[in-house]
Amino acid sequence: MAEWDAPWLAAAVQQLRRAHAAGRLPSALLIHEQRGTGGSALAQLAAQLALCRAATAPCGECRDCRLVRSGQHPDFIRVAPMEDSRLIRVEQIRDLREQLALTSHAGGASVALIAPADAMNANAANALLKTLEEPRAGVTLILLTSMPSALPATVVSRCQRLRVAVPERAAAIAWLEQRRGTGPWEAVLDVLGEAPFEALEIDAAEVARLQAETHAALAGLDAGTLDITRTAEAWGRAASLELRLACLENWLTSRIEEGMRPVRQPRELRSGAHSPAARSELNMTRLLRALDGLHELRRLRLSSINRPLALEVLLRELAQR
Ligand SMILES: [Zn+2]
Repeated sequence: MAEWDAPWLAAAVQQLRRAHAAGRLPSALLIHEQRGTGGSALAQLAAQLALCRAATAPCGECRDCRLVRSGQHPDFIRVAPMEDSRLIRVEQIRDLREQLALTSHAGGASVALIAPADAMNANAANALLKTLEEPRAGVTLILLTSMPSALPATVVSRCQRLRVAVPERAAAIAWLEQRRGTGPWEAVLDVLGEAPFEALEIDAAEVARLQAETHAALAGLDAGTLDITRTAEAWGRAASLELRLACLENWLTSRIEEGMRPVRQPRELRSGAHSPAARSELNMTRLLRALDGLHELRRLRLSSINRPLALEVLLRELAQR
């Protein structure tokens, strides 16, 4: 099964295949996806189309195809933020330009994937512009991003754009079941958002467990029985903090959506038990403030803030609503 077989990618896959068949695979391709919807699979297809020399490229069987798939093809260069950094720096783009200026190892095509492209700082994007302006024949540059607006217009305008469709929930679940078997995929996508490619890589049972545990704790918060300090300490120190924050955000967003609905409808709630009495006391301002705090916490999670303390502040905010 190819990585790009997901049904919502079909239109984009066809667009790439047609361009390749017509000998018009773009020298610069900007893949715009919502995180986790399959942009990386499309990038891999583009790389195999460019590098596979079989008549029916991508054949999936030849040495080039296999090396692209295993991430070891010498003419498929990946540029990503360095460890412990969220940025792609100008030095990395200069290195890339030097590598691309040389002829490829096989004397044929070269492909570079910059992902996420919006991680390039301004200097890096400027350095890339030179490569985009004077492309060497046989070079395919692929920029993968979920935030094209964060890229300079001068960069975007030089790329052919490929938009990845966001899958319907049912289609995403059917695909995940096909790839990984039955599992708590509904809960996983509630936590991750519509990101089936991310769900594919994750321990689904663990995510479902975290979500149930988080909802139980928040029910305890409503009932006034939760030990806030201890919970914040345990959550803040765990390796699962990022997923925990995603569970919290999902829960908060559901509460806010409920609060904004003018008439309460007998709709099944996505996020578990929540008493009608507590719901009627929703305090939108506090919920929105908590959501702001949560976004800030998710943004800062890699830095050296006191995570348990930040979580405690957030939980106390929610306890008072
Ligand atoms: Zn091949």
